Amino acid sequence: MDARIVLLGAPGSGKGTQAKRLCEELDLTLISTGDLLRQAVRDNTALGAEAKGYMDAGKLVPDELVIGLINEKLKGLRGGFLLDGFPRNLEQAKMLDTVTGVDIAVELDVDEDMIVDRIAKRRSCRQCGEVYHLAAKPSKVEGVCDKCSGELYQRTDDSEETVRERLRVYHERTEPLTGLYGERGVLIKVDGRGSIDEVYRRIVDAIRGFKR
Ligand code: AMP
Repeated sequence: MDARIVLLGAPGSGKGTQAKRLCEELDLTLISTGDLLRQAVRDNTALGAEAKGYMDAGKLVPDELVIGLINEKLKGLRGGFLLDGFPRNLEQAKMLDTVTGVDIAVELDVDEDMIVDRIAKRRSCRQCGEVYHLAAKPSKVEGVCDKCSGELYQRTDDSEETVRERLRVYHERTEPLTGLYGERGVLIKVDGRGSIDEVYRRIVDAIRGFKR
């Protein structure tokens, strides 16, 4: 598929899980700024060290850092792609416009009580970043990644207090992007409730049936 897709949704809306699967099955290039930033933190790069404090506090990492991190990736993009976690504010959306168009923005819509449950039970692989849920998507062996046998852990920014701050930041900075893409006629809102498979089907049907 060669669509250029942006995935929007609150923390815990299922973006990361759906993004990985969509890219594997629809042959899209995945760019997740959250994953890239966590990798930079693990690699102890200067950028990672600077970004960590913002991430742990549930704040957005400053635009210059994020843009520096993904600029080359965006410029080198060929064919279809899916952006998970970028753009996160209007400034980043403007920057994206200078590099590429966006065919479809998918907004995953979920209730806040569902978000709290999803995040509390989320576990991530330290090594490859694969995401699990203790009930909805458990690993085969507790605490061990199915894909790479890495250790599963709870993200430091998944504590209740930080999640609240991330939600606040989402409403204030990221949600306005639905207005922007809505005005351009490229926004589709998808119900993010239900099983991973159900939500996945809804997204694929919405993307395939999308006519501008
Ligand atoms: P995520 O994995 O998308 O939930 O991102 C985790 C954290 O990384 C966020 O709470 C931010 O601190 C940071 N982050 C990820 N993407 C961006 C972005 N596009 N702009 C600024 N900060 C970001």
